Amino acid sequence: MKYNQLISSIQSNIKSIICAEGINAPAVTPFTEIILKSKTPNNLFQSYQGKSKIIPVSETKWENSFNIDSSSINWENTYKNIISSTIDTTLRSFQYKIVIRIIPTNKMLFKFQYVSSSLCTFCNANIETIEHLFWECP
Ligand SMILES: [Zn+2]
Repeated sequence: MKYNQLISSIQSNIKSIICAEGINAPAVTPFTEIILKSKTPNNLFQSYQGKSKIIPVSETKWENSFNIDSSSINWENTYKNIISSTIDTTLRSFQYKIVIRIIPTNKMLFKFQYVSSSLCTFCNANIETIEHLFWECP
């Protein structure tokens, strides 16, 4: 899995150079040792390429939605809490879908033309977003 993460994080132009010219290097170098010891080789490699960590769009949307800055939320703990809060995989899946904002609300279903209205299923007064459904709906 680490190997796959690493390979998928390499930019395509670098991959083509490697394929064209090959690599004449020993199998285990200090760099490969660091990668093998790393828990997040993808982020490690991106930092070597000069990229900062990729922030999921869902995190930015939550921060904008509740008007909070990114430093006040520990996202790593948020994802860990999904696992530690329950052993029920259905609930874990449901929580994860909320956190990454892929719960199908009427707003999205209307956009994809699966339902005839974007209004909330319960109050029928507001557009059904995740925020409305779980925080604002009476
Ligand atoms: Zn509602």
